[in-house]
Amino acid sequence: MGFPACCTKFFVDEWANGYYDPVWQSALGTEGNIVSKRTLEVEGHIHTNQMLRYYGLRTTSHFPCKMDCQESIETGKAWLEVMRSIDPHLTDSLVEFLEMPLVWSCLHGLAIVETPIFTLITNSLPTKERWTVLYSSKGKPKARDVLTLLGDDLDLEKLTDVMVERLKGI
Ligand SMILES: [Zn+2]
Repeated sequence: MGFPACCTKFFVDEWANGYYDPVWQSALGTEGNIVSKRTLEVEGHIHTNQMLRYYGLRTTSHFPCKMDCQESIETGKAWLEVMRSIDPHLTDSLVEFLEMPLVWSCLHGLAIVETPIFTLITNSLPTKERWTVLYSSKGKPKARDVLTLLGDDLDLEKLTDVMVERLKGI
């Protein structure tokens, strides 16, 4: 199927370990990641970005062993040229989507992918804790600088007080 050998081995190994959606594992292998508990911050590449695949937004059809996998990037370049020969305008739009900073997080079987223009919620691994990947493309704005994540703009204690007051009135 044209998958790089490094990525095929990665996926087979991670699948055997029970990680059938190995986004975090892929980020973990990426050079320059910053680890803070269960949070990684990585600079990836449009050809290794599989986090928007639910909408068909990707240039390769395999999980990369890491988000800077050179062989995946080469595979993606070939496919991008095929896309460009068919529809250059749509190809530019695809690249724009794949270059957006995003945050992928996984908790209790749900993955949430937050981008500057939409949020995607889908099934993933049934984790007990939240696992997070802050993703950006090289040279593009960082996710932590441009995204307000779900719940980040809420004062949960204040919200709880308001809800308690409202419930008293019922
Ligand atoms: Zn690879």
